[in-house]
Amino acid sequence: MQEEQKQVEVEPPRFKSLTMSQQILKPRVRGFICITSHPEGCAAHVREQIAYVRSRPALQGGPKSVLVIGSSTGYGLSSRIAAAFGSGAATLGIFFERNGEGDKPGSPGWYNTAAFHAEAKKAGLKAVSLNGDAFSAEMKAQAIEAIKKKMPGGKVDLVVYSLASPRRTAPDGVTYKSTLKPTGAPFHAKNLDTDRKVVNDVTLETANAEEIAHTVKVMGGEDWEIWMEELDKAGVLATGCQTVAYSYIGPQVTWPIYKDGTIGKAKEDLERASQKIDALMKLHRGRAFVSVNKAVVTQASSAIPVVPLYVSLLFKIMKAKGNHEGCIEQIQRLFEKQMYNGNALNFDEKGRVRIDDWEMMPEIQKAVFDVWPAVTTETLEKYGDFAGYQSDFLKNFGFGLTGVDYDAPTEVERPIEDA
Ligand code: NAD
Repeated sequence: MQEEQKQVEVEPPRFKSLTMSQQILKPRVRGFICITSHPEGCAAHVREQIAYVRSRPALQGGPKSVLVIGSSTGYGLSSRIAAAFGSGAATLGIFFERNGEGDKPGSPGWYNTAAFHAEAKKAGLKAVSLNGDAFSAEMKAQAIEAIKKKMPGGKVDLVVYSLASPRRTAPDGVTYKSTLKPTGAPFHAKNLDTDRKVVNDVTLETANAEEIAHTVKVMGGEDWEIWMEELDKAGVLATGCQTVAYSYIGPQVTWPIYKDGTIGKAKEDLERASQKIDALMKLHRGRAFVSVNKAVVTQASSAIPVVPLYVSLLFKIMKAKGNHEGCIEQIQRLFEKQMYNGNALNFDEKGRVRIDDWEMMPEIQKAVFDVWPAVTTETLEKYGDFAGYQSDFLKNFGFGLTGVDYDAPTEVERPIEDA
């Protein structure tokens, strides 16, 4: 019925071999992942975000010593950039990434971090990074040691929890896996196969109790609680320290798979944890809260059924309205208008900060709903901004950035140098 179109450029020679570590890198997309990434492109992407933050006024009363758990891509990377370049903060970043090796490119988060360190060094900003499993006790101990030895005053005044992971080995030694499934009835919906640019139907079977519980273990609030308890016990939380974790709610069309799905149950648990952590943070005259952020294209969101179709439609509508934002604009607005500059947090009825407010405006949501029934493979261009979706997707892997010579060989192994 639907013509299958290959939209993403797929180059036959994977990496034209030059030396073992010098490669010509082109995007190789497999479903919702790109298996290659470009170090110069990732660096350009990081510099774009830094330039945006620098275009905004410096934060008044902003953070000075920040721990970002999940700092290498998406919302966590933007949080690190906004804190460092908007407030002059020293940052400790934690992530799970790999450097390039031999003829294999590294992960985008590695390259982003290498570029972040280089830019931080140029700007005279302290940057410390730890690569490994943030869920583990060892990583928590390493982070505490790094805070004591390397961060200003041996303490942190902001902790951003921005992990997105498909699995977690918990303190009980069990490795839990998260699933993306509805928890009520099976869910039949329109979906976008982003690799083939085809609008199709998906049926998602209902999760069982174990799948729900496991997703809560991975993406819920337990690990955030453990982090904050350990940081508290180690005496590394500064007076007035804040901690924030990110969540998503989204429109009704995605509720069966998101808000009311397994991931939504995990996010409910994050809100439970937020209240518990808030009580702990009060002892430091600080606070803990959940910020509900806008839908953007990240590695995590690309993997969720139905969401890429919604995002393509949303982008077109928000761009036309002139209030479209990506990760960096969202985090900058969170810091600028809510957390710092003498502002107070603006909570919703459930005690969450809503930086998804522009996405959730009734006229924006109505516009998405109005076109939702009419969108097909053939009408996707008309109703949606698939080009914008795809450009953001590829940028996350360092492709499609202006000023980068994608035909030139590039070094795949990149150091993360102390800054
Ligand atoms: P992302 O995939 O871009 O980033 C995830 C980060 O977690 C990376 O830095 C990665 O290295 C790190 N990570 C994963 N597993 C790890 C581990 N075991 N140890 C150490 N680091 C690990 O994800 P994102 O989309 O930026 O999501 C971050 C948070 O924002 C999530 O809670 C997500 O639900 C929330 N959020 C996302 C969106 C969206 O549209 N993408 C919208 C609202 C809220």
